[in-house]
Amino acid sequence: MLHKTPKTSSSAVTRASQSHDWLSLHQARRQVHISRPPVPAPLFQAPSSVPSTTPSALSPSQTGSNIAQASKPGLQRAGAQRAPTSARGPRVAMAAVADEKADITAVSDTGLPRSAVVGVLGGGQLGRMMALAAANLGVRMKCLDPAPDAPASWIASQRLGHFRDAQAIKDFASQEGVSVLTTEIEHIDADAVEEASKALGLEMEPTPQTIRLIQDKFAQKQYFQANNVPLPEFREIKCRGCMEATGEKFGFPFMLKIKRLAYDGRGNAVVKNAADIDSAVESLGGYETGLYAEKWAPFVKELAVMVVRSSNGSVVSYPVVETIHKDSICYVTEAPADAPAKHLEAAKAIAEKAIGCLEGAGIFGVEMFLCRDGTILLNEVAPRPHNSGHYTMDGCVTCQFENHTRAILGWPLGSTSLNCGTSIMLNILGEADDDEGVRIAHEKMAKAYKTPGAKVHWYGKDGMKKGRKVGHINVSGASREEARARLAMMDPGATEALKSTAAAMQEAFGEAVPAQPQVGIIMGSDSDLPTMKAALEVLREFGVEGEINIVSAHRTPELMMEYARTAHKRGIKVIIAGAGGAAHLPGMTAAMTPLPVIGVPVKPAGCSLDGVDALLSICQMPKGVPVATVAIGNAANAGLLAVRVLAAHDPSLLDKMLAYQDSMRDMVLAKGEALKKNGV
Ligand code: ADP
Ligand code: MG
Repeated sequence: MLHKTPKTSSSAVTRASQSHDWLSLHQARRQVHISRPPVPAPLFQAPSSVPSTTPSALSPSQTGSNIAQASKPGLQRAGAQRAPTSARGPRVAMAAVADEKADITAVSDTGLPRSAVVGVLGGGQLGRMMALAAANLGVRMKCLDPAPDAPASWIASQRLGHFRDAQAIKDFASQEGVSVLTTEIEHIDADAVEEASKALGLEMEPTPQTIRLIQDKFAQKQYFQANNVPLPEFREIKCRGCMEATGEKFGFPFMLKIKRLAYDGRGNAVVKNAADIDSAVESLGGYETGLYAEKWAPFVKELAVMVVRSSNGSVVSYPVVETIHKDSICYVTEAPADAPAKHLEAAKAIAEKAIGCLEGAGIFGVEMFLCRDGTILLNEVAPRPHNSGHYTMDGCVTCQFENHTRAILGWPLGSTSLNCGTSIMLNILGEADDDEGVRIAHEKMAKAYKTPGAKVHWYGKDGMKKGRKVGHINVSGASREEARARLAMMDPGATEALKSTAAAMQEAFGEAVPAQPQVGIIMGSDSDLPTMKAALEVLREFGVEGEINIVSAHRTPELMMEYARTAHKRGIKVIIAGAGGAAHLPGMTAAMTPLPVIGVPVKPAGCSLDGVDALLSICQMPKGVPVATVAIGNAANAGLLAVRVLAAHDPSLLDKMLAYQDSMRDMVLAKGEALKKNGV
């Protein structure tokens, strides 16, 4: 219903290519190739408040005729009429590949060329950081913002004009040579952008429909509910009677929110009890403002995930972070979040599901609650780079701003992996107005410049106000402890805040949250334990968390497969596998895990071959499946080797290993001295 393959698609590409007009060529090509997967539930039906001018309202013939216009410069239609993934025929793809050779600035066969101009609606700090990332890719960004010298104008050229004014957007896009539009704030006028993008035939990413949906938090919730994304219970509030009924249904406290234009807690009121109803409603501007209520989410931690959606609809997410707010403003974030792996996996799955059912390319921030009973509920989604993703600028291989730029250009996405053990982001918030606020912020930055692993990002905003986000500091560490210790050098309160939510989670979950094991020790039988426990003792000596499991390659092969395939997802970094006799466990495990495996040949009791059989089974691995093998029965060496693997990325562990080696040397020297002195 949403898209139909236009018969004219490939000819649109060809005509554009013949005209040597790269913009027409690439827009025509994007209309052929860039597509979105089927939308799980109708985006435009659930929320009653969403206007009906939508792609789904277009008939196939309308779609086709619009695509046909794509060869005429300036008349191309916006992304709503792109062809579906299933419609990509090999013939069309080959035609595009052939055209691609003609364009020396092309990066991918479906995207815009590097010479494309990105037009950003808004020129705040997010636009500034987006433009910085784009500049590194060699891509030019221009921004539209009504405030002179907007933060983004330091990097992107700024056009003065309002991002809610359709005419201003049209003038911006046409006169500045914009090839694709995007936004750094969700509070734009989606209708105005849609009008401008249709009139100029320009893509807007994410689509105006998605932005319109997300702008209305109530419509957003209805849509996610229809797509089975878990949420706190919610209901629309139109009158006092609704408030009273909500109090009875949800219990107190509950959260009252305005549907639109909310940010940084401005737009929420906690309704503590029935007597609070009138003041809460009044504080948000009355029933006419457009209100809805949410059941209180009894969370122990707030989690967030940045998810990037490429123009072909594929979705990739960043690590799960914990966010801590102070007065409803983001204060500090930590990646990866300090929570059991199963909750982190669940949060990631929910975030990907939520973004998977939206339309349009770009980065999205997904806020969630980890509740006392272990459930995870979605709070809200932002259709843009997000404060909870600022850590990616220094903590990940590809930052959120770069991946947003790649996504909207239709380029391949970059790795979202952490490039350190733990990455923390500390917001620099105005602590006072004017000069006093500037002085305090600079004191914090001065501390950051002296802190190892810390990087300052200053937004260049005009003027200082209390509570305003004016910059942030990212601090990386090889381990959580190291990153938090570095954070404490700048803001001890932030480190305490991160520790305090762990305590709350522990209390709620009723048991101590086990420390994350980094080394997994496995063996085929408990008869191997007397040998293998030496590895655990070494790990304990170095303060490394290890876990022990009985997993047999012969008697429980399914369990072994499950263990090997999931160990890295649970945070294990090295596997030590002990086995005797036919000793298949280390090799089979190595075949199924991406982690380093250390094999320990075990000499089983009563064995006639002295463990040599196990040694050969373990070390004679075929090319491509490595197993590091230690001496027969020497599990202590396996433990030490595991510590050395971890120490390669952990300076504090490296220091401990150096101290251990020194102590071994001292011990040997002392023995030599004693021999010299006392004789044999
Ligand atoms: P904003 O647009 O200001 O970010 P949110 O809806 O995300 O608004 O709410 C801000 C903060 O208020 C959240 O980060 C969370 O701390 C708290 N909050 C929001 N909704 C709920 C809820 N249903 N239950 C408990 N706390 C909530
Ligand atoms: Mg929020």
